[in-house]
Amino acid sequence: ICKTADDVRKIVKEKNVSFIQFWFTDVLGALKSFAITPDELEEGIEEGMGFDGSSIQGFCRIHESDMIAKPDPTTFQFVPWRGEGDRPVARMFCDILQPDGTPYEGDPRYVLKRLLGQVAEKGYTFYVGPELEYFYFKNDQGTGILDKAGYFDARPMDMGGDLRRQTIFALQAMGIQVEYSHHEVAPSQHEIDLRYAEALNMADITMTYRMTVKEIAHRNGVYATFMPKPIFGENGSGMHVHQSLFKDGKNAFHSKDAKFNLSDIAKHYIAGILKHAPEIVSITNQWVNSYKRLVPGYEAPVYVSWANRNRSAMVRVPMYKPGKEAATRMEFRAPDPSCNPYLAFAVMLGAGMEGIENKYPLPDPIEEDIFEMTPAERHNKGITELPGNLYSAILETEKSGLVKKVLGEHIFKEFIDNKKVEWDRYRTHVSTFELENYLPKL
Ligand code: GLN
Ligand code: MG
Ligand code: MG
Ligand code: MG
Repeated sequence: ICKTADDVRKIVKEKNVSFIQFWFTDVLGALKSFAITPDELEEGIEEGMGFDGSSIQGFCRIHESDMIAKPDPTTFQFVPWRGEGDRPVARMFCDILQPDGTPYEGDPRYVLKRLLGQVAEKGYTFYVGPELEYFYFKNDQGTGILDKAGYFDARPMDMGGDLRRQTIFALQAMGIQVEYSHHEVAPSQHEIDLRYAEALNMADITMTYRMTVKEIAHRNGVYATFMPKPIFGENGSGMHVHQSLFKDGKNAFHSKDAKFNLSDIAKHYIAGILKHAPEIVSITNQWVNSYKRLVPGYEAPVYVSWANRNRSAMVRVPMYKPGKEAATRMEFRAPDPSCNPYLAFAVMLGAGMEGIENKYPLPDPIEEDIFEMTPAERHNKGITELPGNLYSAILETEKSGLVKKVLGEHIFKEFIDNKKVEWDRYRTHVSTFELENYLPKL
C-alpha cells in the first residue's frame, strides 16, 4: 500500500493510526519491536529513532550501544490483529544505523542488502521462495498435538485448517501473497507456502510470517513452533528455499533445451551451494536441535548431493512445469525455519555466486535413495556429509572465508562466539537420555 515516506505520512493521518511499530531482527533471527506514537512519526521518518542496542543479542558492546532504527517506508503495513476499532496499528521494518548515520554492520538486514547490492551490480536480481513448516501444540510446555493427520489430509482429520485459514487472511491483509497451504507429514505439522519474491522483501515477509503464525495460534489458545525437530521419530520442520537469479527481466537459471532446463549459470550456482554447504549450514541450521532434523529417514538432507526427484537430496531441481521459464529454479532443502532469514538468504546467495564466478563444475545428479547406499557406495560416488551437529558446523564456518566475507567481521565473530557458548551448555547438560539409559545399569 505504501511506497514513499509521504505515503506513510498521509495514511497515518487519514486512517488515524494509533501506534507505528518499528520492527528489526537480531543476529539469531528474533523479531524485535518498539512502538512510537504518530507525534514522533516525522522525526522517525527523517532521522530514525534512537534505542539502546546493548541488550539486543549480538548487537554491540556496552560502550557503543546508541543505535538508530530507521524505518523503510516501502514496508509499511497495518498489523491486522492489533489496534482497536478505528485506531489501527501499523508497522515498518527498520535499518539499524550508527549515531553518525552509517549502516550498523551488526544489522542482519544490512548484511543481506549489502550482498544484494553487489549482486545487482553484476545485473542479477535474487528471487527466493521459502517453504516454512511448523507444528501446532497445545501449549509451549510440551508437544501435545492437535491432530493425528498426515501429508495433505483434509478436514476433519486436519485440525489446523481453520488456524491456517485465519493465518492466510492475516498474511494477505499485510500484502503477502500465499500460494498453498496444507497439513504436513507429521501429526499437527503444517505448511503455508508464499509466492516467491525478491530476497530482501522475502526476508521481511519470512519474519512477518513467523510472527503471524504464532500470533494467530496464540489468539486461538494454542502454540505454534518453528523448532526444527520437536518430536523424536517424526519428520522435523524444514524451510526449503527455492532460488533463482534473474537478469534483464529473464530467468538466468533457464535454458530451453538443456537437461532440467538448467542454464550454465544455474549449474554453477548449484555447484556453489554444494561445495559451500558444510560452511553455511551453521547459519541456515543454527541450533543444537537443527541437527536432529538432518538425519536419515525424514525427508531432510544428510548428504551433499543434488537430484531432480530424489527427496533425500540436499538440492532438488523441481520440474513441475518443464519448459516454463519463470518456474526454473533450484531448491535447497537443508535450511530450517528457525534460522535468521536475512543471514540465511545471504550465505546461500554468497555460495551460489562463488560457484558462478569461479565456474565450479556441477557433479552428476544422484537419483537413487542415498540413505539406502552403503558408506562405500557413497564414497565411490564422492558423496560427502553435512556436519552432524552444531559444533562440527561451527568449526566449518569458522574456517570459511566466504561466510566471513558475506556476514562481515562483526556478525561472523558474534555468531560463532554465541554458538560456541550454546554448544558448551548443551555438551555439559545431563539429559533424560543419559538418565534413562545409564542410571539403571551403571
Ligand atoms: N519435513 C521435511 C523436512 O524436514 C520436508 C517434507 C516435505 O516437504 N515433503 O525438510
Ligand atoms: Mg512444500
Ligand atoms: Mg513441506
Ligand atoms: Mg519442498
